[in-house]
Amino acid sequence: MKKISVLIPCHNEEKSLPLLYPELVKLMDSISNYEWELMFVNDGSTDGTLELLRQLRQQDQRVNFVDLSRNFGKEAAMLAGFDYVTGDCMVIIDADLQDPPELIPEMIKWWEQGYEDVYAKRKTRGRESWLRKRLSLMFYRLLQSSSRFDVLQNVGDFRLLDRSCINALRQMRESERYTKGMYSWIGFKKKEIEFDRGNRVAGSSSWSFRQLFSLAIDGITSFTSLPLRISTVVGFIVSMLAFIYMIYVFIKALIWGDPVQGYPSLVILLLFLGGIQLLSLGIIGEYIGRIYNETKNRPDYIVRNFNDEKPL
Ligand code: UDP
Ligand code: MG
Repeated sequence: MKKISVLIPCHNEEKSLPLLYPELVKLMDSISNYEWELMFVNDGSTDGTLELLRQLRQQDQRVNFVDLSRNFGKEAAMLAGFDYVTGDCMVIIDADLQDPPELIPEMIKWWEQGYEDVYAKRKTRGRESWLRKRLSLMFYRLLQSSSRFDVLQNVGDFRLLDRSCINALRQMRESERYTKGMYSWIGFKKKEIEFDRGNRVAGSSSWSFRQLFSLAIDGITSFTSLPLRISTVVGFIVSMLAFIYMIYVFIKALIWGDPVQGYPSLVILLLFLGGIQLLSLGIIGEYIGRIYNETKNRPDYIVRNFNDEKPL
C-alpha cells in the first residue's frame, strides 16, 4: 500500500489545529486505500500547540510531530518536514485551513497518473491587505522577468510532491531558503490545479511585514544576480553621461569663453553619484551577507524532539 504524508508547519496554531485535524481525519477516512502519515512541525510555538499535538498523537498513531528548538520560520520548518516524512508522496498544507484539504483527492488522482509535483494555484487570495496584494504582485513580476525559472504567481506551498521531488529538495540545504523558487528549480513533471483561497479560520498570520519583505529579498537574491548587473549598467550609463557633460563644459569654456557656473550642478552630481554608489554597495552587501551566512554552513533547523523521542 502506498503511503501519503501530510506536512503541516505550525507556529502558534492552537486555535486552528482543532479545526484542521477533523478535516484531515475526514479526508484520510474517505481515501482508505492508502496508508497515511500526518507530520506536524512545531516551529517554536509559544502557545499550546505542542500540548495539542501530544494529545492528538495519543489518540491517533498517524500523527507525528517534529518539535523545533525555536522558531526557525516556515521555510526551515518545511525542510525539517521534508527530512522526517516517510511517505511515497507528501502534501504540504497550511495549518490555518486557508488551503482546502478537499483538494487533496484531486492531487492524488494526478499523482497516480504520473505527475510528480501537483500544485494548487489560487484563483483568489482570501482576505489580505490591499498593499500586501499589490506588493506581492510587483514582486512576482520582478522575479519572473529576472530569473531563468518560472516562479509562479499565486502558487504557494500547497502542493503534492512525489518522493523524487522530496529527495531533490532535501539536497538543497541553503540557509537563505526560498522554497517557492526551488520547486521550479528542481524540475519534474508538474500539474496545475486551481482553487479559491479562503480566509484564516482562526488566529492571525504569523508573517509580519518585515518578514515578508525579507522573504522577498531572499527570493530575489537566491534566484538571480540581476540587481548586481543593474548596478553595473547604471554605473556605466552615469559615467557616459558625465563624460558627455564634461566635453560640453569644456567646449563651452574654451570656445565661447563662458565662465563655468558650477556650484549647483556640482552639488547635484555629487549627491546623485553618492546615492548611486551607496545603492550599489547596498546591493553588493546583500549578496555578501548571504555568502557569509551560507559559508557558516549551519544546520537550517534544530530539532528538540521527534514524537517526544530523540530526533533522527
Ligand atoms: N508558519 C510557521 N513558522 C512561521 C510562520 C508560519 O511554521 O514562522 C506556518 C503557519 O503555522 C501556517 C503556515 O506557516 O501553517 C502559513 O502561515 P500564515 O498563515 O501565517 O501565512 P499566510 O497564510 O498569511 O501566508
Ligand atoms: Mg495563512
